[in-house]
Amino acid sequence: MHQDLYDVAIIGCGPAGLQAAIHAASKKAEVIVFGRARKSGLYKAHIANFCCYERPISGKDLLQAGRKQAESFDAAFVEEDVIETKNENNLFSLVTESGNTFTSRTLILCLGVTRKKLRVKGEKELVGRGVSYCVDCDANFYRGLDVAVVGNESAAAIGAVTLLSYAKTVYLICRELTITDTLYEKLKNSNVKIIKDTWVKEVIGTNEVEGVLLKNGEALKVNGIFVERGAKSALELAANLGVLFDTETVSFIEINKKQETNIPGLYAAGDITGQPWQIAKAVGEGCVAGIEAAEYAKKLAGD
Ligand SMILES: Cc1cc2nc3c(=O)[nH]c(=O)nc-3n(C[C@H](O)[C@H](O)[C@H](O)COP(=O)(O)OP(=O)(O)OC[C@H]3O[C@@H](n4cnc5c(N)ncnc54)[C@H](O)[C@@H]3O)c2cc1C
Repeated sequence: MHQDLYDVAIIGCGPAGLQAAIHAASKKAEVIVFGRARKSGLYKAHIANFCCYERPISGKDLLQAGRKQAESFDAAFVEEDVIETKNENNLFSLVTESGNTFTSRTLILCLGVTRKKLRVKGEKELVGRGVSYCVDCDANFYRGLDVAVVGNESAAAIGAVTLLSYAKTVYLICRELTITDTLYEKLKNSNVKIIKDTWVKEVIGTNEVEGVLLKNGEALKVNGIFVERGAKSALELAANLGVLFDTETVSFIEINKKQETNIPGLYAAGDITGQPWQIAKAVGEGCVAGIEAAEYAKKLAGD
């Protein structure tokens, strides 16, 4: 199974990576996919807004079905993390956790984003009952209510601004904001109430979130708390390749309509290219990236 040279390597086996694999492999490209399904954002989710599924469907089932489908087109899978990426002489080389090296004509980054937890009292107990890790998925539930967003980086700032279109009051709780000046201006000129130099000590509530207790002793009455600490780790891998990020948040990979990055032969799809963090977007982008990468690899190979 371990070939000398693949046409399309895909890092990430969430919906973006799987869809990219299905489309690239169906074009007869030699495809290899890296990553673990259980690390996909989808793995523990129940999805009710994905086209064609009227009733909520388990994310785990979707991922298993997607992998089988990709394998039926002969895509190969390696259940390991990629720890190093290089781009030399028009080829990408990838080193996995176990030290194996794989080489490919093209590479598609479908790394998703990391959703870090707060690990404070009340958080775990109230997930899905006021504690959320996804503004795009859950903002609609908080129409006319009071919410807090916790985080220091771009994901939190963007999440807070997005929530203004739904919630009555939006607090942003942060230690210190590490965001670009452009984003800071946007935030400052909005109605988001920024509470700096503190953090969440406890999420309060019995059956649902009723408030948050802050480390500075302040207590806020809110109906929801969005933990948005994300969008970093996987990006380091991308940054090593010289990929350009969006100018506003410097958190998401810049792509064009063909899912191409600034590096020839390198594509990106799914959550890693920016919001909305939704399956429908991930599979749409994965489809385009898979087709484009397969075509590019064929040209390189002189077919
Ligand atoms: C609790 C929750 C509920 C959600 N609800 C909904 C919903 O109702 N509707 C909806 O549309 N969306 C929902 N989402 C969002 C949805 O799951 C994501 O938008 C989708 O999974 C993004 O797909 P992706 O392929 O871009 O990334 P992911 O699915 O996150 O996959 C990323 C992949 O990258 C791999 N990876 C990362 N780093 C490496 C590395 N170094 N080497 C190898 N592999 C790596 C991981 O192993 C993983 O396989 C929800 C998410 C969560 C967390």
